Parts: sequence; C-alpha cells; structure tokens
Amino acid sequence: MWPAEGPQAGLATDLAQPRLLRADLVEDKVQGGVVGACCVVQSRALREILLQLRPMHESAASRDEIHALLRAGASAHDPATLSHTPEDFTCELCAELGVPASYAEQHSLQRIAEPLRLHYAGRDYVGRTLWLQHGAARAWPAMRRMAADAGVDLEAVSGFRSAAYQAGILRRKLERGMTIEQALAINTAPGYSEHHSGRAIDIGTPGSPAAEEIFETTPAFAWLRQHARQFGFRMSYPRDNPHGVVYEPWHWYYQPV
Ligand SMILES: [Zn+2]
Repeated sequence: MWPAEGPQAGLATDLAQPRLLRADLVEDKVQGGVVGACCVVQSRALREILLQLRPMHESAASRDEIHALLRAGASAHDPATLSHTPEDFTCELCAELGVPASYAEQHSLQRIAEPLRLHYAGRDYVGRTLWLQHGAARAWPAMRRMAADAGVDLEAVSGFRSAAYQAGILRRKLERGMTIEQALAINTAPGYSEHHSGRAIDIGTPGSPAAEEIFETTPAFAWLRQHARQFGFRMSYPRDNPHGVVYEPWHWYYQPV
C-alpha cells in the first residue's frame, strides 16, 4: 500500500528549490487503482507532507507514470500541472449508478471539488492515514488535544474520500440488493460528498460504534457541540436538515468564519 522510496536518483537537489525527499503512491481502497502521490517536500527548511491528486480516475495512472511525474521535479511542486477529478467523470459515475438527474437540485447539494493537495492529519481509529485539506489538517489535531485535556477522546473515523471511492461504497450497496434511492438515503452521490473536499471528518469516540446516531449520547458529542466551532468545525447534517440527509451527529465540516 505504501511503497516507500528513498531519495530518488535524478531529482534536483538544489536547496533553493523545494526538494522532494520521498514519494509514495496512494491507492484507492475500493478501486484498487493509484489515486495520488504523497510527497514529502522540503521547502524553506520546513518538511511538508503533501498528497497531490492526479486526474487518474478515468484511467488509473500507473506507478511508472506517477514516478515519471515526480522525477520531472518541478511538476511535484506545481499544482498547475495536476488537475482535479474531472467533472465529466463524476457525471459518468452518477449515470452508471443510476443517480436521478434531479438529485442535486432535489437535495440542494452542490458538486464538491477534490483539493489538489491533501495533508497528512495523523491516523484514523483503525490506524489508516488520515488525509485532510490544509486548514482542517491543522485544526483537527489541535481540537483533539484540547478535548483530551478535558478527558474526552476524539478519534477520526473517516476524512478525505474521492468521488471514485464514494461510487465504490454505493456500488457495493447496489450489489447487495439495495435500490439507488435507498443507498442515496445513507450515502451522498459521488461528487456531492463533503468528504471530497478534505474538510469533513467523521468523528467517533472509543466505546461508541462508528457513524451511528447513538454517538449523540456520548461525552465526545457534548464536547463537540460546545467547542468544535472555535476550531472551525460545524455539524453538517443536524436533524431535519434541508438536504434530506439522515441525521449525522458524527459528521463535522471545517469552515472557519
Ligand atoms: Zn461523513
């Protein structure tokens, strides 16, 4: 899953330029394809971990292609050379799954773009790497620390998800015999999940099942209701929300005011 690479031969090592120290490939858990390149970049004496997405959803980029991209040096630091998940691809996914054409309008949902760069935000509750957008990746650990100081244990259940990953979740539900309407009552259509932005986190706490309504009875939820706002997080789907999404006390979105 994480084929680590040492400092690569052929890379520019001019310290005046941001320097690529290491590049890993990130694979999509559902699609099984490579979805991005995680770069450890040194710039101005800072070490940054970045995930740069490639437009590889319509034809999964191979390892060789990504390595070639990273070896080109400059392209690892210039987001302009990389691009978002193409909108057409999201439409194709929705068509394939049978998402009604009126879906977005009916639920007052906007298409959510994937960020070009994702940042390492620690580990989730089962030890997987948690990727978030820049601001959220800073706010989340800070919020966790403050909660911990108050004796409250917050853990990340889920952070960034690509549109392709979201499609995989729905596809599996259809394969198990659900209708698309039933599946969409539980998961948003690909392209419309706040998780695509890297700003949404599903939050859990030990002893409470992940992503279940009962989370609202935990001290963790009570703490979040009181303090999450000061870290820029808000609950996206309260009871009877206008999007017709089920009540999700665990789903918080980073949008500082
Ligand atoms: Zn969520």
